[in-house]
Amino acid sequence: MALAPTSAYVHVPFCRHRCGYCNFTVSVSADSQAEMYLLALQQELNCIDDIYPVDTLFFGGGTPTHLTVAQLEQLFQTVYERFPPRADAEITIEANPEDIDPNVCNVLKEWGVNRVSLGVQSFSPNKLRQLERYHTAATVDRAVKNLRGFCDNLSLDLIFGAPQETVPEWQRDVESALLRDPQHLSTYGLTYERGTTFWGRRLRGDLPTNDESMERQMFETSIDMLQLRGWNHYEVSNFSQPGFLCRHNQVYWRGEEYFAVGPGAARYVNTQRETNHRSTSTYIKRILSGVSAVQESERLSESERLRERIVLRLRMMEGIPIAKFESQFDCQLATVLGSTLEEFQRRGWWEICDGHLRLTREGLMISDALWPYVLAPQT
Ligand code: SF4
Repeated sequence: MALAPTSAYVHVPFCRHRCGYCNFTVSVSADSQAEMYLLALQQELNCIDDIYPVDTLFFGGGTPTHLTVAQLEQLFQTVYERFPPRADAEITIEANPEDIDPNVCNVLKEWGVNRVSLGVQSFSPNKLRQLERYHTAATVDRAVKNLRGFCDNLSLDLIFGAPQETVPEWQRDVESALLRDPQHLSTYGLTYERGTTFWGRRLRGDLPTNDESMERQMFETSIDMLQLRGWNHYEVSNFSQPGFLCRHNQVYWRGEEYFAVGPGAARYVNTQRETNHRSTSTYIKRILSGVSAVQESERLSESERLRERIVLRLRMMEGIPIAKFESQFDCQLATVLGSTLEEFQRRGWWEICDGHLRLTREGLMISDALWPYVLAPQT
């Protein structure tokens, strides 16, 4: 029998307002919903058949720190009853710089949170305004100072490719982030997702966008800047100081199983994938009336799971340790990947080096376009 997962994700769907580029499961102006959400979450957790001690716990959103101090306490208490963190567990919370004050920090400290992922996005007033973020560099500094009182594992999120952003401006953002001495950085290119305000604005032509080559330059610039300073570029969008890789996210990228609760949360348990309803109201209504919150459920075939694992592992810069992978999954990569293996090598998109199949710099730049070829069975 497979071992139970030792990681859990908790989705907290509340934010101050919806940023124009965001398509996450988020509720705004719905603070009154928070009490009902906590009740529903408790009920969802009660339906899990046992108590599962965890090595990694991730509170994401939304913005978990948008909850009041009392609600945060209740959140931790409820979740820890079902998923008690083991002694050296990594406990991460996503936070908005505007929410971090000494009271919030006291709660996080009291409940053993030891990793904070701060949604900084930029230090430039213009760019922050464009991204519809209302904090400033001074807000970030206050938050960092407060967090440093108890947390020595701080991750900052940055966005590149904002409308009309230049490469030097992006360099300044990376430099500014480094000045705050974080242990981890996540850098994401701005995307325009269908259904977001930015999507509509771009269609109407009132949001100027950068060309792809500019975004590529920005991505490469940050990789070079960080590697030059000894940072470990360990996943497509993630960089860490030595020893500070995010343990929770590595569970996803290694294709391991994990629990997940909350609106829109996706779990992978017993080879089954399940996703809860995205709407917070529907999630609450269903659970409180005794109906499952699951909206989608699928069990991947052996071959689908294998291909998915290959994609996830290739997102990590160390790539796939071929011999280990083949013996673990009783497969031959050459057979699974068929002609794609050689074709992508020939085109310089991936390489076999030190017994690992890994993306080249060129492959990294276009990785999203490569995955469909890996996921599709070869004939
Ligand atoms: S703070 Fe984050 S989760 Fe909330 S709306 Fe903005 S981008 Fe989305």
